[in-house]
Amino acid sequence: MLEHLPPDVTIYEVGPRDGLQNESRLIPTDDKIAFIDALSRTGLRAIEITSFVNPRWIPQLADAVEVSRRITRVPGVVYSALVPNRQGLDSALAAGMKEIAVFMSASETHNKKNVNKTIAATLEAFRDTIPPALAAGLKVRAYVSTVYGCPYEGAVDPARAVELCRELRALGCYQISLGDTIGVANPRQVRDVLSRVLAETPTPEVAVHFHDTRGTALANILVSVEMGITTVDSALGGLGGCPYAPGASGNVATEDVIYMLEGMGVHTGVDLDKLVDVSRLASTLVGHEVPSKFYRATMGARGRAAS
Ligand code: MG
Repeated sequence: MLEHLPPDVTIYEVGPRDGLQNESRLIPTDDKIAFIDALSRTGLRAIEITSFVNPRWIPQLADAVEVSRRITRVPGVVYSALVPNRQGLDSALAAGMKEIAVFMSASETHNKKNVNKTIAATLEAFRDTIPPALAAGLKVRAYVSTVYGCPYEGAVDPARAVELCRELRALGCYQISLGDTIGVANPRQVRDVLSRVLAETPTPEVAVHFHDTRGTALANILVSVEMGITTVDSALGGLGGCPYAPGASGNVATEDVIYMLEGMGVHTGVDLDKLVDVSRLASTLVGHEVPSKFYRATMGARGRAAS
């Protein structure tokens, strides 16, 4: 145990998109831009800033074009956005995006409810977005949700992740992020799924996306990095909550992941102090405290030091 940790892990920050899209308070565009610009100065290397979906689906991200155009892009930071279809791709290109992400689920029912298509039809429809995106010089990432469990179907066959990674790589996606959308995975399951996927996929092409709904996210991330995974998705402060369990945790908190990794000597390049300041900003924007344990411990210690 712990002998094979990678020296360096890239945190893929999804707070401005995956986090904010599940927050009820509508954040003004200027505040969102200030939030993303602050994140860009923490040492993060990858930030998912928005989603070019129809504003009717996600009103919170209706300002995708304006946000993408007005943020201050820091050299060395990758900025990405979700793209659901050809129209979204055209908007992303017009807004100057260099990286996009497509998304689907490993379970039929979740996929159907989320994108209104079967899994097979979703893969087919990716042919309208991925090849033109690649032709335009963009990098394309893919999200596979419900890898470890579906809110409608329950258990999901681990073979689904393997099949979808194969399909998505064949379509030209440079990395596939495997998501535990409802936060049910345990480390043994993670080891099982990743060992199957990594048997045929180069490690840098696989990322992990855990939710902390039942408190297992850090354990799952530890197993993942021990298996060689070097890209971990997380959301600042643990923004977003869980859409399937109101009041429960959703995305694992970026601060908590970085605290664990840096403490074990795994470099992330992120300045935790600066990150906590951005979390404080984010908590004022969304109008409530954020669930990150590291954030709460740090704010508590700062409060005591000041009193
Ligand atoms: Mg998520």
